[in-house]
Amino acid sequence: MSEATDATAGTAEGGAIVGRAMRATTSILGAYRAFIAHTQACEECRAEGVDCDDASRLRQLWRDVKAAQ
Ligand SMILES: [Zn+2]
Repeated sequence: MSEATDATAGTAEGGAIVGRAMRATTSILGAYRAFIAHTQACEECRAEGVDCDDASRLRQLWRDVKAAQ
């Protein structure tokens, strides 16, 4: 037995709106995760406790994505 999840249930119109919102959230989350993943993997970020050039770019990208929503 398999039922549709609540998120995908409902009218097609409602589903499209939810889909758009989810894509927007995913892109913000994706940018945020990329930044976090970098700071956790980058020796420079971890050693210095500050953002290196790459981290600054990723942080700015995340802010840009958020601002564009
Ligand atoms: Zn770094």
